[in-house]
Amino acid sequence: LDGTYDEANIFALILQGKIPSTKLYEDENTFAFLDIMPQTRGHALVISKWSKARNLLEMEDEALAQVMATTKKVATAIRKALNPDGIQIAQFNGAPAGQTIFHLHVHILPRWEGDPKGF
Ligand code: 5GP
Repeated sequence: LDGTYDEANIFALILQGKIPSTKLYEDENTFAFLDIMPQTRGHALVISKWSKARNLLEMEDEALAQVMATTKKVATAIRKALNPDGIQIAQFNGAPAGQTIFHLHVHILPRWEGDPKGF
């Protein structure tokens, strides 16, 4: 969990427009886009546009509230678009916990009855 924020992490580059992404939603403070290796149909990610938090333990409460509000908005839109039976929200902190990109992100995973379990 220790370390410093890498300004050139993949999600920072996506925010700078240096790496393309499929945008689902954007506002002043947050950005939501499709995961490049989806675990389920409609697998989306939500990030803060300004916070340099690598993980939940570092994130400012204000940024966290913004990210979670956007998570709810995008999950609601995904529900309307894809009609999943459930929606899993996942968030990993530290490499041993499965984190691979060190810019805090929330996974939104639409789930259907009978799907393999996933995360
Ligand atoms: P983590 O394991 O860190 O919680 O999740 C990182 C997620 O980012 C993974 O689900 C992975 O598929 C996704 N990802 C990695 N590189 C890219 C990329 O360049 N673009 C997008 N859209 N997603 C990425």
